[in-house]
Order: sequence, then C-alpha cells, then structure tokens
Amino acid sequence: MASPALLMRVVASAYSVAEKAATIVRNVMAAGDLAIVEKTGANDLQTKADRLVQMSICASLARKFPKVTIIGEEELSTDEVTEELIEDGHCEEILKRTCPAQYRGIKEEELVIWVDPLDGTKEYTEGLLDHVTVLIGIAYGGKAIAGVINQPYYNYEAGADAVLGRTIWGVLGIGAFGFQLTEAPAGKHIIITTRSHSSTLVNDCISALNPDSVIRVGGAGNKVIQLIEGKASAYVFASPGCKKWDTCAPEAILHAVGGKITDIHGNSFQYNKEVKHMNSAGVLATLRNYDYYASRIPNTVKQSLMP
Ligand code: AMP
Ligand code: MG
Ligand code: MG
Repeated sequence: MASPALLMRVVASAYSVAEKAATIVRNVMAAGDLAIVEKTGANDLQTKADRLVQMSICASLARKFPKVTIIGEEELSTDEVTEELIEDGHCEEILKRTCPAQYRGIKEEELVIWVDPLDGTKEYTEGLLDHVTVLIGIAYGGKAIAGVINQPYYNYEAGADAVLGRTIWGVLGIGAFGFQLTEAPAGKHIIITTRSHSSTLVNDCISALNPDSVIRVGGAGNKVIQLIEGKASAYVFASPGCKKWDTCAPEAILHAVGGKITDIHGNSFQYNKEVKHMNSAGVLATLRNYDYYASRIPNTVKQSLMP
C-alpha cells in the first residue's frame, strides 16, 4: 500500500500531540501554580499551561514536519524544549482514512499550522474548565482544511466514572469525528458569544438578532463545539480580539460538517502565513441557517468593524 498522504500524517500526529497537550493542561492545574502573566491586560492572560503546551505542540510537529510553517499564539523566549514535552505518536485510525484527492499532492512547505495551545485561558484561571480547548488548525492555499480540537476537561462534572477529555478532528471532504453532530432546536435563535470580552457593540449586535436566549461562555473552540452539538444556533462576536489560531481548527471542523464561519461582513478568513493575525471584523458562525443571521447583522455594527 502507498504511504499515507502528508495531510493525513499531519492530522494523525496532531491528534496525539493534542492529547499530550491536554495532559499538560490538566497536570499544570492539578499542580496548583498557574504562573499567570498578563499580556495586553487583565483579560488577556497566559499561564504556565499556555507556555508548556505551545512548546510541546510546536516542537513535536516541527520535529516530524520540519518544512511546515507553524504559528503559535504565545511569544516565548527560545528556551530549550525538554524531551518530556515531545509527543511522537499518531492516531492509526486517521492514517487509515483516504486523503481527499485534491489534497493528496500537498507538500510540507505548502501547509500552515495555527496553534492555540489553550483557548479560554481566562476561564481556565477561573475554574470554568470545560470551556478550555487546545486548537491545532491546518491550512493550505489560505484555507482551513483540517483541524483538531481537544477538550481536556470534557465530562469533568459527570462524575468519577466518566472518561475525562475528548479529541475532535476533521478534514474537509472526509468529515469530522469525536462528537455527536446534533441540530439546534428548530425555530429558536440561541446565540452563543463571549463571556469575558463583551462590549456595547457585542451586545447591540446580539440584541438586533432578537435571540430567544444568549449563552455566554469562553473560548472560540468551545463555542464552535456548542454549534455542532446543537446547543446554540449562531456564534456571534462583533468585536476584534479573536485571532487566526482561534478560528482555524474550529473553522475546518465546522466546514467539514456543512457549517459556515466568516467575519461579521460575510468575508471568509484567510490562513496563509503572511496574513495578519487579528480577525478584526469579528466572527459569525452557524451549523445551519447562516444567511438568516448574516442578513440581520445591523449596518451600524458592520461600519464599526473594518476587516
Ligand atoms: P472569547 O469568546 O472571549 O473566549 O474569545 C475567543 C478567543 O478570542 C479567545 O482566545 C480570546 O482570548 C480571544 N479574544 C477575544 N477578544 C479578545 C480581547 N479583547 N483581547 C484578547 N483576546 C481576545
Ligand atoms: Mg484563543
Ligand atoms: Mg490561547
């Protein structure tokens, strides 16, 4: 049998690397010293887990795929990465899947991997542990084509017998796995949005959509999981602040199951290595009925958020 295509090898490795990352996230919390650093302010934090996980993910993937561009959220001093942070494994199940024809010829130099080592850091520091995800997004030709989302504390309130943590993965043209795709309640407009980065504009935009209810939780990864599991009908964030590493993996998984994510104007996100990191014009994502929500974003909101 021919050796698996590069893309499938990268996704299979990213799966195991994300599981290792989840173990680090749990271990740092269990050890009790988060060693929090404020980046731009009190709502933009970095913990020891963000730092160790980024080192682990980036070094592990770079060792296996040296020509791939890997862009991580955290700016780290160039400390030597210790050997215990390296994950060398891969998921056999993923390697067995057939790579979609349009991606079979991809070379290492053509891939960009966007890494959010810990999405929902603010919530992690506040003990809202199931908001936290580890995001590894894979882009080709400027598009998010594959992604892995690990939720280290999935099930943490389900009792001691429940299996803690899960890994969701997806590739455009194959689908997404590791969760149960569920439709949101029909005829209801359940909006999911930020918990810790609200603003007048964020709230005005939500009000204009006439929601039946609003869910405020942390994390871009977490919010997209809520969309594909039918807990919410639209993820709406009329604010800059969210970055390419926040949206790349969630976008690939959402698109792999037929959903849609764009900025608030309806522009798709670009993920080539030269692109600016900030998603300045916000986020609008749905599993179904994208057009309904897009058509109701007020012009005043759009005018306040330039791409
Ligand atoms: P949230 O929905 O507030 O959890 O935000 C989703 C992602 O975007 C997280 O990684 C946040 O850290 C990031 N983010 C959103 N708004 C801001 C902001 N104003 N400053 C820093 N990061 C932000
Ligand atoms: Mg994030
Ligand atoms: Mg982060």
